[in-house]
Amino acid sequence: MRPDTPADHIAEAERLLRTAEQYPEDAEPLLLQAAAHLELAGERGRASTLYDRLLASEAPEHPQLVKALQAANLWEYGHEAEARALINGIRTAAPTEAPPWEIIAETLEHHDELEASHECFSAALSILLAEGDEDVPYATRSLLSGRHRVRRMLGLPHDEWDATADRVHAAHTPDVTLDELHDPNRLWALGSDNPAELKAEIARLRSELGSYRSALSRPFPVAVLHWPEAELTELLEAYPELESEYPTHAAHLTDIEASLRDLAATGTENLGIVTATVPSYEAFAASEQSSPSNADLLPQYATTLAARGRAAAWPPARGAACWCGSGRRYGECHGA
Ligand SMILES: [Zn+2]
Ligand SMILES: [Zn+2]
Repeated sequence: MRPDTPADHIAEAERLLRTAEQYPEDAEPLLLQAAAHLELAGERGRASTLYDRLLASEAPEHPQLVKALQAANLWEYGHEAEARALINGIRTAAPTEAPPWEIIAETLEHHDELEASHECFSAALSILLAEGDEDVPYATRSLLSGRHRVRRMLGLPHDEWDATADRVHAAHTPDVTLDELHDPNRLWALGSDNPAELKAEIARLRSELGSYRSALSRPFPVAVLHWPEAELTELLEAYPELESEYPTHAAHLTDIEASLRDLAATGTENLGIVTATVPSYEAFAASEQSSPSNADLLPQYATTLAARGRAAAWPPARGAACWCGSGRRYGECHGA
């Protein structure tokens, strides 16, 4: 279920706010996600209130992330001075996690402050990118790629980090190079006076920026539900209507791996697996005033667990234990 209309986003935000009431210990990620939906619905004032509420709470887990999201939100609806003050505060605080940096750098980029955006991307990488880091994590990859994009728009030559950005991008997205993607000047330089070509190029850049931004407005993994064998047996005994969803436990495990690979192949980043239990699923169904036998609840349950910070990142490293709990290595089990 992917909400599309403002009304869908508001309904989803309301649902997350109710869940946050039920699970106060997980309120922060739930409120952040609710705020993202409110922003997408154009309810920037309400989103801003949620960010303020988080910042005023006892000990926010990710204060710099909340400030960055608030800055992006405020600037978007006309509170530029406040947004700039927040951004300056984040730069001074120099957080050691990628998301706040990426959000402020993209906010500056979005408002045509390319030099300042470039400085933020570079400051972030100097903190976060380890020397000789082969397997660059997702969040850092976005910083490399964002910096690469801004540098091309500034007309700067490639440097070492740009070369890393190109290499990392090629390893994950082999069909189009980062340089093709980030070269808004290519057609001008070629002397093209074909406005259709120019328009297509600009549209391509915008859509890339758009997909990063939508990933940012939801800094939570897209998660698939995993029922351990004993839980699945108990579930199907209690709710045999769900048998069509889960013919056998082995097939369920195979489906999980296949869905995640499909999502990855179609460019979805930041994937995860959430582990289901019958009692927590029943509690979820009750909170939705629905019956656990309603299969439509399953994806919502998965989303809610992910929003509560319960997802394990997928894929595991090949040598790490498989997510299915078999005790074998991922590369020799479902990762084979
Ligand atoms: Zn490049
Ligand atoms: Zn396995």
